[in-house]
Amino acid sequence: MLPETTVLNQLQSALRPYGATLIAISKTKPETDILELYEAGQRDFGENRVQELTDKAANLPEDIRWHLVGHLQRNKVKYIVPFIHLIHSVDSFRLLRAIEKEAAREGRLIDCLLQFKIAQEDTKYGFDLNSARQMLESPDFAAFRHVRIRGVMGMATFTEEEAVVRGEFQRLRHIFETLKQDYFTGEDQFRELSMGMSGDYEIALEEGSTMVRIGTLLFGEREG
Ligand SMILES: *Cc1c(COP(=O)(O)O)cnc(C)c1O
Repeated sequence: MLPETTVLNQLQSALRPYGATLIAISKTKPETDILELYEAGQRDFGENRVQELTDKAANLPEDIRWHLVGHLQRNKVKYIVPFIHLIHSVDSFRLLRAIEKEAAREGRLIDCLLQFKIAQEDTKYGFDLNSARQMLESPDFAAFRHVRIRGVMGMATFTEEEAVVRGEFQRLRHIFETLKQDYFTGEDQFRELSMGMSGDYEIALEEGSTMVRIGTLLFGEREG
């Protein structure tokens, strides 16, 4: 068996008890690598750049579910709206507005996650609880018909200190529960907690992740 598919099987066994979904993050990796995992049954793949995502999607099987996990510029929304499965990285009201507009034009309903800043690092992108509340309580948001908020996404600090990572995942889980209670009660749609990467997915699963985004473990180290 090929090593990549061995890792795939191991990861899927690890995720099964949690009922979590594996998103294979294929950024910088060739289409042949994606096809290997596809042949082994993997269908959810994620990229962080729009150009690379649209190029790959055009050449690969149509039943792949494509996820965008990187920062999305408003002027590039139109390129992914026709086919994207889930946008994990909605990091501002302005961006969600742009997605709503393009989705209306395409006649699609786009599933989105709100990205939150949880790491110690000074990350540029993402909501905090206040800015998310402002958006979710606004009349503009209430009028959106072409975007559906499915949950939240976050990235923990890149550190060996497990307590730091665990604490950040717990905060994201708390944000998720708070938003669910205050804005999405009784709605089945708000259910995804996208957290965990190659280095910290086990902690993320223990803290309630429903989607782990794994690149390096599946495809090997990236160059550059
Ligand atoms: C690259 C990336 C991943 C995967 O990271 P690995 O450490 O290679 O597993 C997950 N999430 C996001 C947002 C990424 O950009």
